[in-house]
Amino acid sequence: MGNILITGHGHRNYGVEAIAMAMEIAHMARRDREVEALERATPAPEAKPNRRNDGTKIGRNEMCPYCKSGLKFKRCCGR
Ligand SMILES: [Zn+2]
Repeated sequence: MGNILITGHGHRNYGVEAIAMAMEIAHMARRDREVEALERATPAPEAKPNRRNDGTKIGRNEMCPYCKSGLKFKRCCGR
């Protein structure tokens, strides 16, 4: 004795796993769409030329002349 084949149990587990997986996939797909929409809504940052209007070069360690943030150009708009 002992060779009792339990049927149904495995099937039930598989069903729960399949539902969990489907929910996970649906959640991931929704996240993808949200990220995509966010990326589309946010315009790509415009590259700032590392030259002033008068043609002189802006050093990477100079204070950013574009937004007066007080940050070095390389840490601000020069990235
Ligand atoms: Zn800046």
